[in-house]
Amino acid sequence: MSSEAVEYDAQVEALNKAFEQWLERFVATLPEPAHKRLGSYYSLNAYIGLLPPRVPATDVGDPEEWMREIEDTRVRFTGRKSELANLKSQIGRIPQNDRAAFAQKVQALEKRFLYDLNLLRGFCGKEVAAARVERERVDVTLPGRRPRRGHLHPITLLRQRIEDIFVAMGYSVEDGPEVETDFYNFTALNIPELHPARSPQDTFYTTDGLSLRSQTSTVQIHAMQRRRPPLRVIAPGRVFRRDTPDATHNPMFYQVEGLLVDRGITMEHLKGTLSEFVRRMLGPEVRTRFRPSYFPFTEPSMETDYSCFKCRGVGCRMCKGSGWIELGGSGMVHPNVLRAVQIDPEEFSGFAFGWGIDRMCGLMYELDDIRLLFENDVRFLEQF
Ligand SMILES: [Zn+2]
Repeated sequence: MSSEAVEYDAQVEALNKAFEQWLERFVATLPEPAHKRLGSYYSLNAYIGLLPPRVPATDVGDPEEWMREIEDTRVRFTGRKSELANLKSQIGRIPQNDRAAFAQKVQALEKRFLYDLNLLRGFCGKEVAAARVERERVDVTLPGRRPRRGHLHPITLLRQRIEDIFVAMGYSVEDGPEVETDFYNFTALNIPELHPARSPQDTFYTTDGLSLRSQTSTVQIHAMQRRRPPLRVIAPGRVFRRDTPDATHNPMFYQVEGLLVDRGITMEHLKGTLSEFVRRMLGPEVRTRFRPSYFPFTEPSMETDYSCFKCRGVGCRMCKGSGWIELGGSGMVHPNVLRAVQIDPEEFSGFAFGWGIDRMCGLMYELDDIRLLFENDVRFLEQF
């Protein structure tokens, strides 16, 4: 081989090496996901396998910057003023014997440059397009969308208000089971076996003599067993009746029950307590009245009404023209109920009261249908 050929050969080698160095460095600057995609796309697997990813995956890089660099490299390695172009122009100066072989080497080198750069350009072009889609999809300059915050259910809000009033009057809040034995739901409440309240039409029975409690009065018994008198408790909770749902009935509803047992408690304490509750709940201008009534577990018993807060007693649709709205039942705890939990009715007396929370809720918010309270329709609940 002529000395010229050896010299030009060395130049071809050096040029190839320079290109490979550029390629290595360029591939190393691509972030890791692009590395992986490039690996499957391009025959540069050998490089990519050898090169540890030096750019963290979270740095997405700039595909448009890559495109510019590929174009610069193409000009540098294959352009008219490139070393390759210079080598090509020297082919004629190679001695005849070595000329064909040298020309082949130069052509192969040029082919390699163009092939690799083309593939890289194709790959980066796809990355540019993907990056553009991504940028348009996630516009980080847009303000965030605030998640919708919920709030407490209207029945819960009302229950808490009732609790607050009684807690301020020295009552504690009691809870009790919703599934009850015969003793708590009936016997201890002075509802003997043949009493109509025990009708299968009245509550839900399970096997083993258990039933869903038909009133929160059951908590009276639990409370008196747990704490001995004197005691004052209120017990809000769910109760169950075998009612067909309609605008004013639901088989599950909420009640609140109150109980006070102490020495020397009379009807006057009961009337004063309920009047004070109504005053704090509905305002000082609302009046109360009491009517005699009957419940198995109280004696004497009464119903409490309050003057209509809407028409102030004149008569309207809400109070059905009467000027009065029924609050609920109450009375002096029956001596048999006290005896059922081993409290001596000669020493202690007390009163109990209760009413439906949903019914009160329906009135206060003027709902035409109490089933709205249980359907959990967000369009309804949002209004509170
Ligand atoms: Zn009215």
